[in-house]
Parts: sequence; structure tokens; C-alpha cells
Amino acid sequence: MSTISMPKPDQSVLDRKAIIVDALSSVLPVDSVISDERETHAYECDALTAYRCPPLAVVLPSTTEEVAAAMRICHQMGVPVVPRGAGTSLAGGSLPTADSVILGTARLKDVVEVDYDNRFIRVQTGVTNLSVTGHVEDDGFFYAPDPSSQLACAIAGNIAMNSGGAHCLKYGVTTNNLLGVKMVMTDGEVVELGGVAMDAPGLDLLGLICGSEGQLAIVTEATLRILPKPEGARPVMIGFDSAEVAGECVGNIIRSGVLPVAIEYMDRPCIRVVENFAKAGYPMCEALLIVEVEGSEAEIEDQLDRIVKIAEALDPVELRVSESLEESALIWKGRKSAFGAMGQINDYMCLDGTVPISALPFTLKRIGELSQEHGLEVANVFHAGDGNMHPLILFDANRPGDLERTEAFGADILRLCVEVGGCLTGEHGVGIEKRDLMLEQFTADDLECQMQVKDVFDPDWLLNAAKVFPLEVSEARRQRVN
Ligand SMILES: Cc1cc2nc3c(=O)[nH]c(=O)nc-3n(C[C@H](O)[C@H](O)[C@H](O)COP(=O)(O)OP(=O)(O)OC[C@H]3O[C@@H](n4cnc5c(N)ncnc54)[C@H](O)[C@@H]3O)c2cc1C
Repeated sequence: MSTISMPKPDQSVLDRKAIIVDALSSVLPVDSVISDERETHAYECDALTAYRCPPLAVVLPSTTEEVAAAMRICHQMGVPVVPRGAGTSLAGGSLPTADSVILGTARLKDVVEVDYDNRFIRVQTGVTNLSVTGHVEDDGFFYAPDPSSQLACAIAGNIAMNSGGAHCLKYGVTTNNLLGVKMVMTDGEVVELGGVAMDAPGLDLLGLICGSEGQLAIVTEATLRILPKPEGARPVMIGFDSAEVAGECVGNIIRSGVLPVAIEYMDRPCIRVVENFAKAGYPMCEALLIVEVEGSEAEIEDQLDRIVKIAEALDPVELRVSESLEESALIWKGRKSAFGAMGQINDYMCLDGTVPISALPFTLKRIGELSQEHGLEVANVFHAGDGNMHPLILFDANRPGDLERTEAFGADILRLCVEVGGCLTGEHGVGIEKRDLMLEQFTADDLECQMQVKDVFDPDWLLNAAKVFPLEVSEARRQRVN
């Protein structure tokens, strides 16, 4: 039995299923409403697959107007709504409740405008992250945030979770690359925030929406910054026989003032599995860093030179600078396939906490000790350059008690991140996964202030209300709806 609970579904909504589905069908095309239980099961979970619950119904609008029409119905009828992009959340962000309508943005697929002079692209939010770059790369541009799930995840979810990726060390995460949004409020009103200029006047509401986890509005369109592709890029692999020394190397690189585009970290359990899967030529060592720099060939040489000197001072067991495009692609293939490779041999829960870079060595050591205490293996793969850790706890979903032990181990790791001055989440969001730990990071007063913001955008608490805030903290507000 998992320790994560969900609120009891609203019986008055369950009882009105047929009427609600009829009302939604009256404003949406016939194939845009799914209510048959055999089909709603396809939406019962996201990538945090340990938790499942089929929704009441699913709507798949194709335009902002259709989203607004669906929201008006749900608002009038008091029906909870869970927004969904591609369903790749690792925090349970798009997990339905039994009384909710899933509002999926997968059919919002248009590229609305590309403007190279002003370096932006405007897309509907159902497009995948990778297809944004795909649309502009022949003209020498790219969209910088690059979650490892970029082939599948949608811009909708990237905005809601403020997603990052390996190359965000240099380019920032979604919020640093988002210029504007069009969104539908709970009552169906369509609102636009930001625009193509650098900084909109007034309060930074765009910053508030980015990372709001589907709590405030449904984002249907996004204006994204695109950048000219760098002249070139080259990684170096550096292996160490100690996690702590690898952590020290990361700190020394950052302190030196070189700004690599990415510093990625893998530990021995992860290297073993990834190497079997991708045959990337990784050395078997305790900790492997992949450090990538970019620019002109002279800039690349200069940065690599400085990084190699810093690493050599720490006696690496292996140091290999990529000598060709093929070698670079292979090095990245291993890292990018780490989660998939791990999933082939084990159930795992992927955590996502952030620590100050100087705390990396201690945090890694302590995670190793916690692994012994909880009797569960852990593999570490993460964006070390910005201290964003992704410990993968390996467990057997079919073994009674393993899920609970995994949850307890995960909670201890996230508490550790907070204790060393970091935070509960780096890029995956809070969702249900970290919801009950929010009081480790914030006081009850802090959370009250955050909930007052939700009150303004979503007074009836219809949007994704079982997420982010601990259930006991949000209970009074959620009861207001019922
Ligand atoms: C193998 C793997 C690797 C991953 N690697 C990374 C990584 O490197 N970096 C990273 O940041 N994440 C990573 N993730 C996590 C995940 O891909 C991201 O959180 C992603 O942004 C989710 O996008 P999605 O479209 O799938 O959103 P969903 O899972 O569908 O939804 C995520 C959240 O967004 C909300 N939402 C969805 N659509 C809207 C909308 N239109 N308006 C308002 N709210 C909305 C949902 O309610 C939910 O709270 C990874 C996941 C997997 C499975």
C-alpha cells in the first residue's frame, strides 16, 4: 500500500457522468470526448506509473476556442479538470482523479508563426519539445531546453513543470526561454501574457504561470525564444574512482569561470546498465562526468584545455576528449538513454532534488549511506552542473512492501536536499510525488500565501487540485467545491 493518498472523489460528479459527457459532447467534435471506461484507462497514469486512476472522461480539443468551451462546461458543472500534455511527468502531475476530466492538449499541434529576425517561434502547446527545434534547425536555429524526454514531452508540460535538461546549465530552463503564453482560465476566459519583446511591463505573471503545474490555467499557445545554433560542440568524458572527487571536479570547473553547456554525472550502477544498453564506451569507474563545451573550434579548444587541467589535478582514472561527431553522439546516446536502459532491468523511482554544487560530495556520500539503511539500491544520473540530482531508486513493484520502502527512501533523499540548502525539486515539479513533503521546504504560512495565489486564478479549486499542496493543507479549499 502506497503512503501517497488521493482525495475521495466527489460522488455528485461521479453520479452526473452521463450529463457531463453530454454537455462536453455538445460543444466539442464527436471524436474529442472519450468516456468509455476501456478507453479512459489509457489516461490512468503518467510516467510515475506506480500510481493509477482512470479519469471520469477525457477531452481532446484542437483549438483554444474548444479548450475554452470545455472549461466553461466544467466550470458551470463544478467538474475538476486535470490538464495533460504528453503524460511524461515523473511527479504524477497529470495523474487523474476519478471525478476529473482530463483535458489533453495533444491535438493542439500547429506552429503558428516563426520569426527569425526577432528570434521567436509561436506554437500550440501540444507540439513536442524536439519538434520545435526540428522546425527551425534547417535554418540554423534551435530551442534550448532539452529534457531527456524531449522526443515525447509537450511544450504544455514543459511550461507547467518549468522543465530543464542537460544543456540548461548554459541556456537556462523553460522560464528563461519563454516569452509569452495564451491560456484559458477556469471559467473559459482567454488571456494572453508576455509577448515577443524581452520583458513585459507589470507583475511577472508569465513567471508565475511557468512552473505552476496545471494549477492556474490551461496554456494553449506559447511564444518561445529560439537561438542560432552554435558553430560546434564537443564533450569530454572524465572518470573518477570516487563520487566525492567527481563532485569536487564539478565545483572546481564552475568556480574557474568556464561555462560548459552541460556537466552530466553518472555513478557505477548507472554506468554498468547504460554501457550494456548503449555500448557508449564508458569506463567502469565510480563516477563519470560528461562535460560539453561549445563555440568556434578555437573556443572549444581553449575551454577543453582548461577543463582537462582542472580534472587532471584530481587524478582521474580516465579522461577522453571526443575526437569526432560520431564519438560525441555515442557519448550522449549513453546519457540520454539512461532512464530507458534502467527501466529495462528494474522498476525505478526517479527523484529530482537540487543541492548547492558545493554540497554535491556530501549529498552523494549520504545518499549511499541511506541506500544501505533502507536496503534498496540507488543509481545516480543527473545534471551536476546545476546541482540537479536524479537518484533512481531501484525496486520491485511486485514485491510487497518495496513501494513503501522506496517512498520512505525517496522522502529521506529529498529531505537531505533541503537540509543541505537545496530544494525538493529541480525540474520535474512537485505533483503528487513531493506534495506531502512541501512542509519540509515551506512553513504553513508560506503555503497559505501560495494557495491564495491559486484562489485568484482558480477560485473553485477545479484545476489539478490534488497536487502540489499537502491534502491536509488544501482540504478546506477543496471542500468548498464539493
Ligand atoms: C524518460 C524521461 C526523462 C525525463 N527527463 C526530463 C528532463 O531531463 N528534464 C525535465 O525537466 N523533465 C524530464 N522528464 C519529466 C517530463 O518529461 C517533464 O516534466 C515534461 O515537461 C512533462 O511534459 P508532458 O507534456 O508530458 O506533461 P504531462 O506529464 O502531461 O503534464 C505535466 C504537468 O503539466 C500540466 N499540464 C499539462 N498540460 C498543460 C497545459 N496545457 N496547461 C497547463 N498545465 C498543463 C499537467 O497538469 C501536469 O501537472 C522526463 C520524463 C521521462 C519519462
